[in-house]
Amino acid sequence: MINRRNLLATAAALSVALSATLAFAADKGTVGISMPTKSSTRWISDGESMVKEFKGLGYGADLQYAEDDIPNQLAQIENMITKGAKVLVIAAIDGTTLSDVLQKAHDKGVKVFAYDRLIKGSANVDYYATFDNFKVGVLQAESLVKGMNEKGKPPFNVELFGGSPDDNNAFFFYDGAMSVLKPLIDKGDVKIVSGQMGMDKVGTLRWDGAVAQARMDNLLSANYTKAKVNGVLSPYDGLSRGIISSLKGVGYGSATQAMPIVTGQDAELASVKGMMAGEQYSTVFKDTRVLAKLTAAMVDAAMSGKDVPVNDTKTYNNGAKVVPSNLLVPVALDKAGIKATLVDSGYYTADQVDK
Ligand code: BGC
Repeated sequence: MINRRNLLATAAALSVALSATLAFAADKGTVGISMPTKSSTRWISDGESMVKEFKGLGYGADLQYAEDDIPNQLAQIENMITKGAKVLVIAAIDGTTLSDVLQKAHDKGVKVFAYDRLIKGSANVDYYATFDNFKVGVLQAESLVKGMNEKGKPPFNVELFGGSPDDNNAFFFYDGAMSVLKPLIDKGDVKIVSGQMGMDKVGTLRWDGAVAQARMDNLLSANYTKAKVNGVLSPYDGLSRGIISSLKGVGYGSATQAMPIVTGQDAELASVKGMMAGEQYSTVFKDTRVLAKLTAAMVDAAMSGKDVPVNDTKTYNNGAKVVPSNLLVPVALDKAGIKATLVDSGYYTADQVDK
C-alpha cells in the first residue's frame, strides 16, 4: 500500500540517486565551446545543440561567442583553459591565430577539436568535425547553373563571391564551385563579366553581408549598365541577402526585371523566407544538430580512450599536420525542398518559414 511515509522514502531515494548521477556527470569535466559570432544564426544553433549534447553525455559546457573579434576569442579560450576545461571545441574566427593558446592547452593536456572550420598552423589540433566543404561549393555552383538554365539559355552573365580569406572553408567552397564553373567559363557558357575571379579578388572579409552588398553595388555600376546579371555565386546566406539588396536597389526582382539566380549556405531563417518569396534561389543546408552530435560523440570517444570516429585522414592538412576529420554530407536546397528538409525534420516550424 502506498502511504505518505512510503512516498517520502521513495522521493528521498530518488533524490539520492539523482544527485549521484549529477555528481557522476560532473566527473566527466567541462568542455569549452568557442564560437565565432552570434551575428549569424547558424552558430547560435551550433552552440545550443552542443550544450545539449554534451550535457546529455554528462559533461559541463562553457559556451562563449567572440563576436568576430580575434583578441576576444583568444581571451575566451585562455579563460576556459584557466578554469580547467578538459576539452576545447573551437570554430575559429581566423584559423591561423590560435597557435600560442593551443600550445597552452596542449601543455595542460587539454584536447582540442576544430569545429566546422579548420585551425591552421598548429600541431595541437587533435580532431576536426565538419561537412564536406568542397562538396558545399560543388552544390552551390550546380544549383546556380540549374537555376540559370531553368530561366534561360547560355551564355549567362555571372558574378562570383567568396567567403572570408582567413577561413580555410572559404577556399574549399570556392574551389568546389570552380570545379563546376571553370569548364563552363572555358566553353563560353558562363561569362564573368567583371573579370573578377580568384579568392584574392572575390573574398569577403569576416563573411560580412554589408561588404558583399557594397561590392555588388560596384560590380553593377561598373559592368551592368547595359548587360544584365543572370546569376551570382554566393557562398553564404548572409552575403546573399546583401547581394540581393544591392540587386533590388537597381530594379532586379520586379515585374520587368527578374531576380538573378543567387545561391547561399546555412539555410538561415531570413534566407529561407527569401527563398519562399522567390528572391534567393537556393541554399546549402548543413544540419548543425547533426554536427553537434557528431562532435560530442568524437569528444566522448577521445575522453573515454575509445576509437574516435573519423572518415577522412587525407584532406585537411593544416600546415603542421593532417588533422583526422569527420566530414558530414551537405544538402542542396531550393524552394521545393524546404518543407521536407527543414520543416519535417523540425529544424524550423511551418509557421517560422511562412511568416
Ligand atoms: C561555415 C559556413 C558559414 C560561414 C560564415 C563557414 O566557415 O562553414 O557554414 O556560412 O562560415 O559563418
